[in-house]
Amino acid sequence: MRPAAAVLEPYDAAFSQAHINLSANENDYPMPAAAREAIDAAIARTPTNRYPIAMADELREAIAAWHGIGKDQVIVGNGGDELLFNLILAFGGTDRPLLVLAPTFSVYELYAKLLETPVIRLWRDPDTFGVDEDRAVEAAGRANLIIVTTPNNPTGNLSSPEFVARLCDACPGIVLADEAYIEFAEKGSSSEGLLVAHDNLSVLRTLSKAYQFAGGRLGYALASADVIAALAAVRQPYSVSVLAQAAALAVIEHRFEFQHSIDRIRQERQRTLLALASLSDMGLRVWPSSANFLLVRLPHAAEARARLRDEFSILVRDLSDTPGLTGCLRITVGRPDENDAVIGAITTILRGESQ
Ligand SMILES: *Cc1c(COP(=O)(O)O)cnc(C)c1O
Repeated sequence: MRPAAAVLEPYDAAFSQAHINLSANENDYPMPAAAREAIDAAIARTPTNRYPIAMADELREAIAAWHGIGKDQVIVGNGGDELLFNLILAFGGTDRPLLVLAPTFSVYELYAKLLETPVIRLWRDPDTFGVDEDRAVEAAGRANLIIVTTPNNPTGNLSSPEFVARLCDACPGIVLADEAYIEFAEKGSSSEGLLVAHDNLSVLRTLSKAYQFAGGRLGYALASADVIAALAAVRQPYSVSVLAQAAALAVIEHRFEFQHSIDRIRQERQRTLLALASLSDMGLRVWPSSANFLLVRLPHAAEARARLRDEFSILVRDLSDTPGLTGCLRITVGRPDENDAVIGAITTILRGESQ
């Protein structure tokens, strides 16, 4: 094996069978019926004998129209993850450092390691997870690639478009705003409006979270035509199947129907946040979030996570061993009954009771 690959472990989403899965930030509300019918119809009429149109022109056109930019400013991938990989493949490498605002999405460092790209980690405030923006702008000058996750996974907080613009001005390379959860944030939080004035900016989006398409695998990046051309040069030509292209097009045509569950999740996020915050006298801390998950810190977190799974059949994400996130779990905001179950279970566990 390549030395850079030999040190890696297979990605482990730590999935196990559970009645309630709040571990992967999916949207588990009922799929809008018209959207589901459109997906089924699109798949039914799509032949599979021919290779896909490599750059997925029809889908890119729909995304470009949605965002009010040119088709040459859009690229699609097999999930946002493929585009993250391609971004580091195209713009990283030895002597071409990637700057991340840690703690953040672990996939960036996994790909950087594999692609032999040094990582500059600028740590967020350990108490608020806020970013020291002046220090980040200063470090930006030494990076060939910067990833700003907004809202950040797993801390849930936003970075402002003004800050992203400062990074673009300071960085000699590329700045990626990873907006996988932007649909759950307040209006005006996206950096996509900066694309006009900043040709080294790229904005990453996915249909996986708000649009209930995690299994379908479709992510996309918006950027200047030059950056898109660089990403196109390194991509595997047929990574997005004809079925995924056809189904994603149907999702995009029906995108407004997803607003209902997005609004519900935002309401449930606030309700769950308040319920968990009321457990602070038992040692629990929860941070506000602009995404569809909440980060909590609680005593004996790894044990609590195992009890949630084994006694309550609730799956959440254990981050308690992650640097900067000691004692933390990440809990997806689910349907009301699921949120009630996790609130009740955590209350029971913190009281030292058994089920
Ligand atoms: C989920 C996620 C993505 C992309 O997920 P895909 O399913 O590959 O589209 C990208 N960035 C962050 C921070 C995420 O949490």
